[in-house]
Amino acid sequence: VGHFVSDRRAPALSVKARWALLPGAILAENTALDSAGGVITRVGRPRGGERDLGDVLLTPGLVDAHVHLELSALRPGRASGGFTRWALGLAVRRALSSRAALAEAAAEALEALSAEGVTCVGELTTTGASLRALAARGMAGTWYREMIDVRPTGGRERVRKTAARSEAEARRAGLKPGLFPHAPYSVSAGLCASAARVARASGLAFAIHAAEHRDEMDLFLRGRGPLRHLRRLLGAERIGREGRVSPVEWLDRVGALFEGATIVHATYASERDVGLMRRRGASVVVCPRSATYLEGGPVDVQRLLRAGITVGIGTDSPVSGGTPSLREDMRALEARGVSPREILRAATESGAAALGLAGTTGSLVPGARADLSAFDVGVSGDPLACAVSDARSRTVMPAIPPA
Ligand SMILES: [Zn+2]
Repeated sequence: VGHFVSDRRAPALSVKARWALLPGAILAENTALDSAGGVITRVGRPRGGERDLGDVLLTPGLVDAHVHLELSALRPGRASGGFTRWALGLAVRRALSSRAALAEAAAEALEALSAEGVTCVGELTTTGASLRALAARGMAGTWYREMIDVRPTGGRERVRKTAARSEAEARRAGLKPGLFPHAPYSVSAGLCASAARVARASGLAFAIHAAEHRDEMDLFLRGRGPLRHLRRLLGAERIGREGRVSPVEWLDRVGALFEGATIVHATYASERDVGLMRRRGASVVVCPRSATYLEGGPVDVQRLLRAGITVGIGTDSPVSGGTPSLREDMRALEARGVSPREILRAATESGAAALGLAGTTGSLVPGARADLSAFDVGVSGDPLACAVSDARSRTVMPAIPPA
């Protein structure tokens, strides 16, 4: 079980497989792949001499496009009582955890993801505790630094410092730096706008949770609910037209909906929101198990895909239900009627695109990192369906030939 991750020290690879998942989630039969120095150099027909992996589906390494690795130390919070109470409980529990415990849990979660073929993550970090584990594994991915601050002033300075920090840390681990204002209700308009501007000007990735839960929708669409009270207590500015603008529309108004921006969740996005995200070129990352755990939420991925939006899949964190397992989330989408082809596409190239890593990983194309997974799909049946769901399928590791 496993995968292999590209590395400058990685030996040259020359393999062939009965099946391969090519860009656009095209299923190709009898495909060979060569790599050198951890980078794919050729994908095409076998020329002879390749090591035969047999009846496997060779895919790009899987992409977990939204995860909080360092929250893995905490047990699931109680979902009853609504999101706001859940989130406050989480904040307290995280504050009481030692950095060492967070780092250790991050390493364990990463190992579990890695074992099921994940080679790339979109890590949202609050404390920075997961950096060492990511660097040690040579994972591809985007390192998002979180920002939470509802006070109306000081956003610009805070963004500047956070961007510098994200860049310095990401460089140490070979990751792409990113900015992640927590959510439309937990940052000021000024901070969110400034983060979007800095990300666009400096080539940092940009993502934000939005339209995730009912408390958030109550605040934005109806101007009421626990988040409104909490924001008042914390000295937040009033949301412009509070009670009449959706979180996604709010993002657009502050300039945070653009090509390259990624919206995490979008569970309660309206048809109008979906149209707006598509027109602006924003991507969406859905977290099926997390949405179900906290809200019993409708994760209508088909309508996002029908609209032509790039959709990735994230595991979020064990705090919002479940284990660090991308394959569980892939199966959760399958249970909701998403096709295996769309699921595999979301779990590879679309996830990479949502992280700002299109062409770098998530695709079997020359020039991309040779981050690969291989699923033992047997000799009969649909290899794509088998890779997502069939209990007999497993992730197999084509052993790296000795250097
Ligand atoms: Zn999250």
